[in-house]
Amino acid sequence: SQKPVQVKLVLLGEAAVGKSSVVLRFVQNDFQEYKEPTIGAAFLTQKCRLEDKVIKFEIWDTAGQERFRSLAPMYYRNALSAVVVYDITSSSSFEKAKSWVKELQRQASPNVIIALVGNKLDLVEGSQEEEEEERDDATATPNQDQSRAISRDEAQAYAEESNLLFFETSAKTGEGVVEVFTEIAKKIPLE
Ligand code: GDP
Ligand code: MG
Repeated sequence: SQKPVQVKLVLLGEAAVGKSSVVLRFVQNDFQEYKEPTIGAAFLTQKCRLEDKVIKFEIWDTAGQERFRSLAPMYYRNALSAVVVYDITSSSSFEKAKSWVKELQRQASPNVIIALVGNKLDLVEGSQEEEEEERDDATATPNQDQSRAISRDEAQAYAEESNLLFFETSAKTGEGVVEVFTEIAKKIPLE
């Protein structure tokens, strides 16, 4: 058996985008419809087993409220990875995510691995496959997708130009959540 590589990870993003819910899904494979807001920050750990290594994530789940903002550097300082979450139905949360990315790129460790995560995918009408089928079928009514505020393409383009990993997730259904942590784990250099 291998000794796990400990990796400090910080979650950042506007209040109520689902940071704690994403962590709860990853750590306990659970979801709570009425999750109490995080005060200050919460600490959790979870291992991620890859073929060639075991990563033990030490997760700092921060509170999104402005009154806790000044505490954030305490959590992202020395963090090897950061997960910046927004809600795909909220454009203000996407702007907030961008400002966190800027701050991380200026103030966090230069090698920090940043993942941008658009959460609450379940709130958007239709799965990817259904949308593709609709596109093929000229008689189908177009998917208005009114709940979505930030398109996958827009976020993907921003992530590419800013050198970020990018995912869309649903903490509610679990879609995409494990991938976030697995892809970060893959990018951690072996000691
Ligand atoms: P945080 O403030 O960023 O930590 O957000 P929370 O994890 O506390 O979630 C805020 C609210 O959004 C809670 O009511 C959650 O149940 C809900 N929520 C979180 N993730 C999702 C999701 O993927 N889908 C839906 N529909 N609701 C979510
Ligand atoms: Mg929280």
